[in-house]
This record gives sequence, C-alpha cells and structure tokens, in this order.
Amino acid sequence: MATSEAVRNHIKPGIVGRPNIVLPPLSDFTASKPTRLLTKIHGKWYDLTKFEKRHPGGPVALGLARGRDATVMFESHHPFTNRKILDAILMKYEIDASDSKHLQTLEQLHGVPEHSFEWPSAFGEALKFQVKEYFEGESKRRNISLREATKASPSRWVEIAILAVLFLSTFHGFFRGDWRFLLLFPLTAWLLGVNIFHDATHFAFSDNWRWNALIPYAFPYFSSPFSWYHQHNIGHHSYPNVSDRDPDVLHHYWMKREHRDVKWLPIHKNQSTWWFMLFWWSVSVEFGLTTMQDLWMLQTNLYNEVVPMMAISGSRRLRHILGRVLTIGIIHAWPFFVVETWGKAFAFSLIPYLFFSVLFMMNTQINHLLPHTTHAADADWYKHQVITAQDFGVGSKFCHLFSGGLNYQVIHHLFPTVNHCHLPQLQPIVARLCEKYDVGYTTARGYVHAIQLHHQHSSRLATKIEHAD
Ligand SMILES: [Zn+2]
Repeated sequence: MATSEAVRNHIKPGIVGRPNIVLPPLSDFTASKPTRLLTKIHGKWYDLTKFEKRHPGGPVALGLARGRDATVMFESHHPFTNRKILDAILMKYEIDASDSKHLQTLEQLHGVPEHSFEWPSAFGEALKFQVKEYFEGESKRRNISLREATKASPSRWVEIAILAVLFLSTFHGFFRGDWRFLLLFPLTAWLLGVNIFHDATHFAFSDNWRWNALIPYAFPYFSSPFSWYHQHNIGHHSYPNVSDRDPDVLHHYWMKREHRDVKWLPIHKNQSTWWFMLFWWSVSVEFGLTTMQDLWMLQTNLYNEVVPMMAISGSRRLRHILGRVLTIGIIHAWPFFVVETWGKAFAFSLIPYLFFSVLFMMNTQINHLLPHTTHAADADWYKHQVITAQDFGVGSKFCHLFSGGLNYQVIHHLFPTVNHCHLPQLQPIVARLCEKYDVGYTTARGYVHAIQLHHQHSSRLATKIEHAD
C-alpha cells in the first residue's frame, strides 16, 4: 500500500514524499496467514521459520522481525549475546542471494523510506562491554544466568506484588462509585501498569518469554499490546525522532506538531499554551492510543503511516477488534449500571481515564520531545539513542517508581531488554562513556524541569518560523 495523500500533504516533500508504488504480488510475509518467517538483517535475508520455536526470547519477539529490515531490533535486542553464536545461527538460516533478490521488505512494499545506521560502533561496543561486565558480576553474585540477571530482580517482584495489592485494594471502593476512589483507582492503575507493561513489552520482565507475552494482556487499561509493539518497539525504539520512521513524532500531526518536518498549520499555534497541553495530555491515551491510532492502523495496515503492520489472519483481526471494543466498552459503560445519577456515571466513566492519560503523557512526552533532542541525529545508532533522549530525576527514587524507570530513558533506549530496576546502576557507566566518547548525554533535574523543557519544544514548533537547534 502506498503512502496516503494525507501524510504527503502534511510532511514536507523530500522528507516523507514517497513515490507511488505498485505492490508486487503478496509474498510470504504479507499473506494473511504467513507461513514463513523471513527477515532482513544487515542487508542479508534469513528464513527463521525453523528457529521460531527455539528462539530464547520467544516467538512474540521474533515475530516483530517478520518481513522487515530488523537490523536495529536484532542489534538492540542482543547486546550481551556472544557474537560468534549469533553469527553461527544466522549463517545457518541465510537465504542464498540468488533466491532472495526478488524479496522486498514490508517497508519497501509500503513505500516507507529506508533509514540505516552505521554498524559496528566503537562507542556501542564499549557500552556493551562495560554493561555486560556489570551483569556478569551480578550473575556470579546471585548464581544465575547472565540473561536472568538482566530481568526483574526478586526485590522487583516484591515491589510489583505490593503495587498489585494497592491497585486491587481500590477496586471495591471504585466500582461502588465512592468519590474517594475516582482518582485513586487510575493512580494505582498507572503505578502498577507503568512498572510492568513497558518492561514486559520489551521482553525485559522475565527471562521466561511467556510472562512477557502474558503481562501486557493482563493490563487492559491501556493501548493494545499488538499496536504498542508496532508503535514502540518496531517504530519508536529503532528510529527515535526520525521524522519518517518514528510514529511518535507523527501522532495527529493535523493538530499537534512535534517535528520541524511536519508542515506547520495555523492550528499548531495553540500548542504553545498550557491549557492546550493539558487538553492534549488528557485525551491522548483514550482517543489516540487506544482508539484512533488502532483503528487507523487496521484500516491502512500502517501504524501512523510509517510502521507496516504485521500480517495477521482475519480471525486474529476480529479478535483484536472485539477485545478493544469490549475493553473500552466495559471501562466506560459500567458506571451507568452501578452509580445512582447520570452526572456521577459520566464522571466515573470519563475522569479516571482522562487522569490516567495525563499521567501517561507527563511521563512519556518529556523524554524525547525537547528543544535539544527532537532534531538531533547521528549515523551511529548508539549515539543517536543518547542525543535524542534525556534522563530526568537521576538518583530520585520517586521519579524511578512514578515513571516506571522511564526517567532513565537514555539508558533504557541503549539497553531496552534490561529491566528498569537495573537502570540506576547502569547510569554512571553510560554517563562516563558518553563523556569519554564526547556524546551529548543530558539530564533534567526532575519532573518540573523536564515538563518545562517539553513545553518549550511545543512552543517553538507552534510557530511557522523554524528555529535552528
Ligand atoms: Zn521503551
């Protein structure tokens, strides 16, 4: 499917301006029931069909690579695996060049522009070496495998259990329509959710892939895991702030402008005001992530026009839609059957989700969308991750818990498969190496400082004039 007119009209030509392409016949990975798991890594094609069940990270993780150029995901998901072992596995499944020359990636089929980084990277190798050294020490100390040492620690599981009990303890009051729980319920939902959902979808919760696959579905007060994998893992993490590859800079660009490559519209003037920010933050999860973005992806087979959707069968598509309708329906409909007045029913139907949305946005928008990170770029993927993100509240236990470790955004982007409970220990290693390699690692003092910087970013892009960064 070619890029829609909408994006071509709203993003400057030359940046996204993709040619109209004619699709070749459906290949193995675009068929509704794909039979083979073909992927492209560092310019070579591999048939990993027979490896799917043996992949230590599980089939869900490997499935993200199906039909794509998965170079970045391959590199970022195996930072500590012995390179010789990785190469030996790949070699076993490599498709002969003469057989693969007719193959096209999903990105090529959809007309999504190519974007590649330079590998290997001296900075990246130094980072991986030192962080691996840290986890080798941990694995010896705790007498577990290195892989297990990078996932949730026992004390992390205890924290999660406490957060789960806290969340469950609000159920009775909330579903009885007790006003005291109107905000307490979404607050505890946020605390539990942000501390498990994000890690699990990064395969960072447990070394048992089943936990990672299951946990996101046990937490429906949020985006569907299926669309989240597309937006976050495949799109955003591989290409942060790359205007034609990162879906996070293209959310509802007809209303909010997050990147200078998005064409300015008069409506964007509003985004310099604080009231707009509050409005935007309160509706984004409900009307954006969980509804509009999802529907738009199902309709166009692209997430935000830049991430091709993986092929799924008709029944899986139907189950996805039913799951979404049921989840959103229950969240909003139950108060009308329980509480005594219409006004109160509306309050319990809407306010918790709007509040949850604000919590989500105040923790996610302040990490990449800042004056100095939005338009930063580097050909070295590791350097690119550092300069397009910012940490905040380093050393603060409150920021760590309340953001579910998102406050160590730079460290998380460098090592997405590491559970966020380890990120404070890795931060000094990363900061030291950034200094040594002259890479611009930045931190904000805390929430207030980071929110101010994000507001500056929004205000700059509210004007037609482009500011040089
Ligand atoms: Zn992430």
